[in-house]
Amino acid sequence: MIKIDALPAFSDNYIWLLQDQKQRRCAVVDPGDAAPVEAWLAANPGWQLSDILITHHHFDHVGGIERLKAATGARVLCPANEKIQGRDLGLYDSDQVDVLGQRFDIYEVPGHTLGHIAYIQPEQHWLFCGDTLFAGGCGRLFEGSPEQMHTSLSRLAALPGQTQVYCTHEYTLSNLRFAAAVEPDNPQVQQRLAQVGQWREDGQISLPSSIALERATNPFLRCHEPAVITIAAQREAAANLTPTQVFAALRAWKDHF
Ligand code: ZN
Ligand code: FE
Repeated sequence: MIKIDALPAFSDNYIWLLQDQKQRRCAVVDPGDAAPVEAWLAANPGWQLSDILITHHHFDHVGGIERLKAATGARVLCPANEKIQGRDLGLYDSDQVDVLGQRFDIYEVPGHTLGHIAYIQPEQHWLFCGDTLFAGGCGRLFEGSPEQMHTSLSRLAALPGQTQVYCTHEYTLSNLRFAAAVEPDNPQVQQRLAQVGQWREDGQISLPSSIALERATNPFLRCHEPAVITIAAQREAAANLTPTQVFAALRAWKDHF
């Protein structure tokens, strides 16, 4: 059995920590800062950090690699198409990789960055998606086109509904405020907004999410919904928008929301 915990980093990042409790081995996803992982290892003597999984090259995801690798000898898994210091294994779309005895499938999900990858464990229904899909939202388009990001998100949205979504940032509340502006009449958005608001007031994490919940409440996965198409068309003052154009309109709106 693998236990998954979030180690908070910076102001709103989570470093996901996968723990194989039997073997006392662990892996981390996107350690932007080494310190929270070092603190956990110091508090849990006898544990070995075996793998460092990286989704993309931004500093808040890779900043801890060097120190953690030097201290533990952990293997560093990265997107093949991005330049990342300390890389041991470069991963491409549809590669499979074994981490803590679990098989992970690799999806290339360009958009936020061009080489961004996601790690999917299909039997356990885990998705580690970095800054591509967020709870209630999606990453900004720093490198890719709306078409690329829409395609990437559509692939993730097609995963089984029970898939647990482990993204890197605690952006859920502000994402859901935007979702409520896009779909004011979606009761599931209102319900989730209230719930996440309560969780955050209580200092609780809002993750992981699930693909089913994202399909129901995340506007960026709902570009085919009549209500979403209508409001995107109003904002663009255009008719007959394609799903990619709907996505582009939402993303541009959210950038200034
Ligand atoms: Zn990023
Ligand atoms: Fe980030």
